[in-house]
Amino acid sequence: MAELEGFEFGKSDFVLLDEVTMEQFLENLKLRFEKGRIYTFIGEVVVSVNPYRQMDVYGKDAIDAYRGRELYENPPHLYAVADAAYKAMKRRAKDTCIVISGESGAGKTEASKYIMQYIAAITNPSQRAEVESVKNVLLKSNCVLEAFGNAKTNRNDNSSRFGKYMDINFNFNGDPTGGHINNYLLEKSRVVQQQEGERNFHSFYQVRLSSSDDRSCHRAVMGALKVIGFSEEEVSSVYKILSTILHLGNLHFETDGESVQVVGGDSVRHISELTDTEPESVNKALLYRTVATGGGEVIEKGHSEQEASYGRDAFAKALYERLFAWIVGRINSVIEVKNYNPALHGKNTVIGVLDIYGFEIFDNNSFEQFCINYCNEKLQQLFIELILRQEQEEYHREGITWQHIDYFNNQIIVDLVEQPHKGIISILDEACLTAGKVTDTVCLDSMNHKLGQHPHYTSLRLPLVSTWRAVRPSKEMPPHTITDPLYSVEGFLDKNKDPLFQDFKRLMYNSSDPVLKEMWPDGQLSITEVTKRPLTAATLFKNSIIALVDKLACKEPYYVRCIKPNEVKSPMLFDDARCRHQVAYLGLLENVRVRRAGFAYRQPYERFLQRYKMTCEYTWPNHLMSSDREAVEAIVVQHGFEGDVAYGHTKLFVRTPRSLFTLEQERAALI
Ligand code: ADP
Ligand code: MG
Repeated sequence: MAELEGFEFGKSDFVLLDEVTMEQFLENLKLRFEKGRIYTFIGEVVVSVNPYRQMDVYGKDAIDAYRGRELYENPPHLYAVADAAYKAMKRRAKDTCIVISGESGAGKTEASKYIMQYIAAITNPSQRAEVESVKNVLLKSNCVLEAFGNAKTNRNDNSSRFGKYMDINFNFNGDPTGGHINNYLLEKSRVVQQQEGERNFHSFYQVRLSSSDDRSCHRAVMGALKVIGFSEEEVSSVYKILSTILHLGNLHFETDGESVQVVGGDSVRHISELTDTEPESVNKALLYRTVATGGGEVIEKGHSEQEASYGRDAFAKALYERLFAWIVGRINSVIEVKNYNPALHGKNTVIGVLDIYGFEIFDNNSFEQFCINYCNEKLQQLFIELILRQEQEEYHREGITWQHIDYFNNQIIVDLVEQPHKGIISILDEACLTAGKVTDTVCLDSMNHKLGQHPHYTSLRLPLVSTWRAVRPSKEMPPHTITDPLYSVEGFLDKNKDPLFQDFKRLMYNSSDPVLKEMWPDGQLSITEVTKRPLTAATLFKNSIIALVDKLACKEPYYVRCIKPNEVKSPMLFDDARCRHQVAYLGLLENVRVRRAGFAYRQPYERFLQRYKMTCEYTWPNHLMSSDREAVEAIVVQHGFEGDVAYGHTKLFVRTPRSLFTLEQERAALI
């Protein structure tokens, strides 16, 4: 609960709204945005609106103001949350995590960087060299990951095209000792195709150095790679792989009589040089695939033009995906905590920072949106569960009776997607494993047949499949506030199966470049050994998200919910409809409701007394009561809102914000 600023800046905590309605929520959000107050609390959650301009609120002064203070002592800020997460970790040896969510361009990645900078700024006061070097590597890793994982899109000039979860490890002193990065679902289709007005990953432009921006970024990335500890050979391999992908994009295929040929100047030769392989092998991998016949015989089968193009694209995407995964792994090998001895160094604790794509509901939604939205359903579920749990725990600690809270449990939607045998992913996988030609439409039929009766699955006209609502509206929230995402089933099977001819894998495994070879261990299998089908894309993603949620669930969570005020990157414009939409699917009203289901406001007796003692004759200037709690009771009684409060062991709980306003007004009149 924030320090109560004057209300001319709006309410610094949404729990203080007179009524929890969308209208009031938006009104407050808008007022604060217009007054340059981009952060607002919901209890301990920070809601952030992208200001689209430089704000003077991240400097050293701000860091000093938030360091070591309690959440309610300062106006809402990312630093307040970062400090709370850090304090809980340090004081109570608890693993904590900060979950940052919101749609593309809402400010998640900027927020995660400010949070990391804050943590870097408040740790290691004695400037120990080894800790400084860990901090430096952690901060520099951002620059590398952005170069390889971000791209210009129509929504965001520097859009992260992957989800990122980073653990930062701390020793008993509370100083960083290392970390670990997990990446999720890199949007590799961007390597071969971008929408109008968008670009490929930044890294490609840095190879070609097309603008001065790209040049300076390139220098920064090279510097960062060096600081992190990439060797010259490794850096050279990385850039050779990028060039290989560019050369793959320059070649195409033509049928000459019976046979298909590679067209594209010297591309094949360049590729063979860059990948340290034989030109004939490159040529062959592009034009033929090795298959095992039923009788166990191994034959070479020529591609059609179309198959060859498909194979080339799949190869380019896989090269990039593996490169990215290798870079993340390489950074991890440097920052991973080694030789940590708890007996010597005390408990090793962790703060996790999650910066992951939010719900995506476009006009045309495909497999990627399906995965992303599923991930958000899981995180939303976790969010509600954990917030409820925290509330329950606080009530329990304070000895206050818990009241049942009605909320929408979206486990049913999560199950619809992930349940074994019955869920959408299972049905997709089954279709992918079926021999012969199962088309997207056949798969859709099967889904309609099996799930048609499910309340959150609606079968619609082809080629659309509608699956689930983003967030099911609760009773108080009318359903018209959000639209259901509709998914186009076209391309689902192919993206899920994500096939890559074994010939490419073998080609790369046989490269004389050790870095490249290392990325393709599965290339050592011969065609007769490749019997087990690799897991599908959806299943791999599902497994990684389940693991992520397990990781988050055992930590104490802190939340930053980011909102994008408009589509045109304007610092002035608050687009009501767009914001309403985001508030709805981020479940923010639900959050406020849970937070004040019992009590809107709570404060330690001492704090409460400090603030309001001048409003009561028994407590001003000093109270003669035997405890702060009794003094607080005197204030409550004097103002006649005994019916509106409960007394916890250490805190006063106030049911409605109204009582507090009365007090605030009286206080304001006195000072
Ligand atoms: P997301 O990661 O949610 O897609 P970003 O964090 O990349 O969004 O933010 C998109 C852009 O918005 C940034 O490049 C920056 O221009 C602007 N922005 C976001 N947060 C802030 C902030 N706190 N202050 C100033 N500009 C911001
Ligand atoms: Mg981002």
